[in-house]
Amino acid sequence: MPLFVYNTLTRKKEEFKPLKDKEVRMYVCGVTPYDEAHLGHGRAYVTFDIVRRFLEYSGYKVTYVQNITDIDDKIINKSQHPTPNVQTNSKVQIPNAKLKEKCEEIVKKYFDSYLEVMEKLNVLNPTKYVKATEHIQEMVDWIKGLVDKGFAYEVGGDVYFEVSKFKEYGKLSRRKLDEMKSGARVKVDSRKRSPLDFSLWKAAKEGEPSWDSPWGKGRPGWHIECSAMSTKYLGESFDIHGGGLDLIFPHHENEIAQTEALTCKPWVKYWFHNGFVNVNKQKMSKSLGNFFTLKDIFKKYKPQAVRLFLLSTHYRGPINFSDQQLKDAEKGLARLYDTMDRLQFSIDSIEISKESHGLDPELLKLDEDFIEAMNDDFNAAAAIGVLFEIVAFANRIIEEKLNDKDILSKTKKSLESFLELLGFSCEKKKASLDEEIEKMIAEREAARKNKDFKTADKIRDDLLKKGIILEDTKQGVRWKRNA
Ligand SMILES: [Zn+2]
Repeated sequence: MPLFVYNTLTRKKEEFKPLKDKEVRMYVCGVTPYDEAHLGHGRAYVTFDIVRRFLEYSGYKVTYVQNITDIDDKIINKSQHPTPNVQTNSKVQIPNAKLKEKCEEIVKKYFDSYLEVMEKLNVLNPTKYVKATEHIQEMVDWIKGLVDKGFAYEVGGDVYFEVSKFKEYGKLSRRKLDEMKSGARVKVDSRKRSPLDFSLWKAAKEGEPSWDSPWGKGRPGWHIECSAMSTKYLGESFDIHGGGLDLIFPHHENEIAQTEALTCKPWVKYWFHNGFVNVNKQKMSKSLGNFFTLKDIFKKYKPQAVRLFLLSTHYRGPINFSDQQLKDAEKGLARLYDTMDRLQFSIDSIEISKESHGLDPELLKLDEDFIEAMNDDFNAAAAIGVLFEIVAFANRIIEEKLNDKDILSKTKKSLESFLELLGFSCEKKKASLDEEIEKMIAEREAARKNKDFKTADKIRDDLLKKGIILEDTKQGVRWKRNA
């Protein structure tokens, strides 16, 4: 079963064939750490985590590079103004050294926080995180190259890319240069030859962090870092470039223009873009007040349930966030784990396994369906659908009490490996969950011994809310998940 992927560049599903056999090089635009990561970040990085995991599962060696935009207007803004989202051009009073320090502080704080939420979502670290500020020289070399080749020009310390010089501009976003020109807002910036020209190097404003360059002190524009860093670590041509839909234009269009102008080679073979997150069918945005950081969501819902929710819609389509969806995901997750428990319990309770009941082909078909779904443009949503068919199959064979240890074991193995593939490490998560439950049961026992029945009952109720039923037996307390 070959893998087919949707390529934004061609607007088609194509058979996936990396440039080097069995090796995949992939770059995804990363965060600008100036605020807490929100649900949109969760969606993007869970998406590309699945892409990476499935490619590795399929036998590819994956090199996955993600950038950190650690110098940017938003970071500088935040360092000057303690309240977020203040757009301002007011004069900077903080001395340069201090401001640089402040920017670094902000970046560290929010990047650490980003790593924390990604770990909770069980998103694997890329092969390499690369920081913009650690690649200034590479970017300067790139810009020099573009100026030398006549694709870029300098005006008073600023350097711009001249869009009209790159004949294929618009090939990713399918926009025509003429239409873009007439659509562009006429902004009074007499220094640019065309309103579409974009910034490669920005002359330093007083007090801002800056670096030396042939055009004087300044800092790189946003787009150039992705070209300079991706090609440094992945080569001048590589397989996959990913990001959110909103990055197609202008960010990715600009990345293509500057890269292919300099290298004269096709840069990226497959472009993948993930869809937006809507909240109660409205676009998620700070101004609408329906904006959720992952940290806040994790206060209410288990990160694993959030991951299941994010994977429940194909990555290219819009996804709708609501409490109901998250509640459903929690239920779904409990059902998956409960089935794993039930399978194990059945396996353990069979002493003598009877002969096979010929159920292997049925399970095999389900296994194939799962992989087929993933091979269809990483359709994790459809694959999760198959996962629940396996759950139904498992519960059926448990209930039929066939004493067929072999098929029970195979079913458990299938579920386990698919959950693992989708990034649900059930063993680890389950163990910590079980530990918490055991601790609460011990506390309840202690309360009962002290005749503190009020506390004991409260703990029992708390456990019930978590979907755990206690049974007092002669051998002691047993617990089970309320399916
Ligand atoms: Zn980028």
